[in-house]
Amino acid sequence: AAPGGVVPSAAPASEHLFARAERVTPGGVNSPVRAFRAVGGVPRFMVSGKGAYLTDADGRTYVDLVGSWGPMILGHAHPDVVAALQRAAASGTSFGTPTPGEVELAEALVNRVAPLEQVRLVNSGTEATMSAVRLARGFTGRTKVVKFAGCYHGHVDALLAAAGSGIVTLGLPDTPGVTGAATADTIVLPYNDLALVESVFAEQGGEIAAVITEAAAANMGVVPPLPGFNAGLRRLCDQHGALFILDEVMTGFRVSRAGWWGIEGVAEGWAPDLFTFGKVMGGGLPAAAFGGRADVMARLAPAGPVYQAGTLSGNPLAVAAGLATLNACTDEVYAAVDARAGDVAGIVSTALTEAGVAHLPASAGSLFSFFFTDAAAVVDYAGAVAQESVRYAAFFHSMLDAGVYLPPSAFEAWFVSAAHDDEAVERIAAAAPAAARAAAA
Ligand code: PLP
Repeated sequence: AAPGGVVPSAAPASEHLFARAERVTPGGVNSPVRAFRAVGGVPRFMVSGKGAYLTDADGRTYVDLVGSWGPMILGHAHPDVVAALQRAAASGTSFGTPTPGEVELAEALVNRVAPLEQVRLVNSGTEATMSAVRLARGFTGRTKVVKFAGCYHGHVDALLAAAGSGIVTLGLPDTPGVTGAATADTIVLPYNDLALVESVFAEQGGEIAAVITEAAAANMGVVPPLPGFNAGLRRLCDQHGALFILDEVMTGFRVSRAGWWGIEGVAEGWAPDLFTFGKVMGGGLPAAAFGGRADVMARLAPAGPVYQAGTLSGNPLAVAAGLATLNACTDEVYAAVDARAGDVAGIVSTALTEAGVAHLPASAGSLFSFFFTDAAAVVDYAGAVAQESVRYAAFFHSMLDAGVYLPPSAFEAWFVSAAHDDEAVERIAAAAPAAARAAAA
């Protein structure tokens, strides 16, 4: 039985594959978020995706509300992306030389995000944040980095320090294998508490190379920045000569053409020194990037002394998928994604309310999630973990049985795509009331 006494349905083909996977892969998965540990049962092994739908090894279809954890803003197997990939593959998959596509993708990013003057392409969001932090240290000649509890920036050793309490928490390793030395220069603070950041800068400002934050936190459930938080980080970095790194791996090219910066930064008139991107800009292939001020990026090898490299960086297939995806992300796509996110969030919240389940809908642009809590607001990690996440397991399995694939964790954002049409939304609407009643039990 799963948490909350839920009995997951049988899925013979997935169970067989999982048994094989567990023998040759730790925990049976290649990324822990894919496991069903938090909700119980065996992960569904997907064999294909088309538009808003996934099909598993048992031949069941699901409306997909995970979207590969963000990249699939156009839905699965979008014809433009498939065609671009076929063209690219037929021309050779990797040359280890510069290629025209890399220039085009870099231009596409720079053209969308005004403060982005130069970018370096990498293969994952983890590489992007790791490299941005290294560059910030190299540029400033300082060592310390401020991050916020509950923000995820990939599995970079120095950024895996998430536990924090008190005024200043010197990061301690959360994960065996991450040494104290790797996190000794990481300062972990509660999200959305600008006064605390201010006091840390007052004490240690001269040693702080950078503040890194998710543009809008969405890895502890969705916790948008409070008004003035990001702008305040910008101001403090300016006052103390630190760089401000905005992690838009999740939000970039998803919540708007110019990401979260395009919404909040433009409205409030601030910009980070460095951005990190991933997910949507790779169109479902491994591509990510970091970039920003040209004078900072000029410190990167071979232009400057800060080393950073990658055999497959700017890979022709990944670049082709990313370009095809970005080119297809019209204003109509963003409008559709925003509208669908609102529809789905509304449907689920109504069902939970009708079933009497205390919950707090949370959103940042088209990213959304639900906290199972009767708190009036969740603004940080402590608030996020205080929810009754055990209710989510029952909700999740009921939705799964009805053909809706949700993130297998109460602490992840839900994603819709432009391919989520009325039929997909109707399936969610049909499934939600029973799932909400299961969560109430
Ligand atoms: N930064 C943020 C905000 C993310 O959400 C993620 C992944 O979920 C990462 C960085 C790491 O990206 P990747 O999984 O591609 O290494």
